[in-house]
Amino acid sequence: MKIDFLGCSGGIEGSTPVGKSLNDYARSTCYRINDHVLIDAGTGVGRMGMSEMVRIEHILLTHAHLDHVACLPLMIDTIAGLRKTPTRAWGLPGVLDILRDHILNDTVWPDFTTIPSAEHPFLALHEYPETGPLEVEGLEVHTLSATHGIPACGLLLRDGDHSVAFSGDSGPDLAFWEEAAAAKDIVAVAVECSYPNREADLARISRHMHVDEVVRLSEILPPHVALIIVHRKPGREREIQAQLNAAIHDRRLEFPVSGDSIEVPF
Ligand SMILES: [Zn+2]
Ligand SMILES: [Zn+2]
Repeated sequence: MKIDFLGCSGGIEGSTPVGKSLNDYARSTCYRINDHVLIDAGTGVGRMGMSEMVRIEHILLTHAHLDHVACLPLMIDTIAGLRKTPTRAWGLPGVLDILRDHILNDTVWPDFTTIPSAEHPFLALHEYPETGPLEVEGLEVHTLSATHGIPACGLLLRDGDHSVAFSGDSGPDLAFWEEAAAAKDIVAVAVECSYPNREADLARISRHMHVDEVVRLSEILPPHVALIIVHRKPGREREIQAQLNAAIHDRRLEFPVSGDSIEVPF
């Protein structure tokens, strides 16, 4: 599975990693899987050219916070008329309701699920299947538990003989980790770690993870399962990385920045 971290920051600015220019760096959540599928559509969408956006068939949404959907309406507008079939976005029922009510409401943005016609729209919204996996572009997609104060899910994507779990945004959620650990072919978990330990209270209030919770909950995973740390809040990147490196020794840790690609299994 090829994962392009078009955006994996918890914001749109941040500490500049060595060798990266500031403007080229922090973008919010959008991962491209094997060229044709997105997980979320935050400002990382802007890293794609138009021809790349046209090739996206499916967008798998975790939740409707702006840092995860801000560029969905803009992307659909950008490629309107360039595709023969609608771009398909998948979400929990509550996530799709939020999109319809608050974004694609013909006030904040046109309702592209009825443009140019309800029969042949530019964008189609679909609920994740209630039971069983969704199959898209050769990937098997399962929704996982998440705790974020609004409708939200994690995702497990299986590509042939291996799978990767994505936490989406979530506070500590034991069920997510148990579900990820139960997948026999799991090779990596992409987990949000928004805050360092000194901001544990802020993490709790905002239903995000901080370092000690990632350390504690990841112990449920077999040691061969890598952790891919994402959604670090701007300005805390190095502190979070240092704390995790100091606390976890028996497991591969990856700290991608926006624009990086990772191929799994490693
Ligand atoms: Zn969120
Ligand atoms: Zn977020």
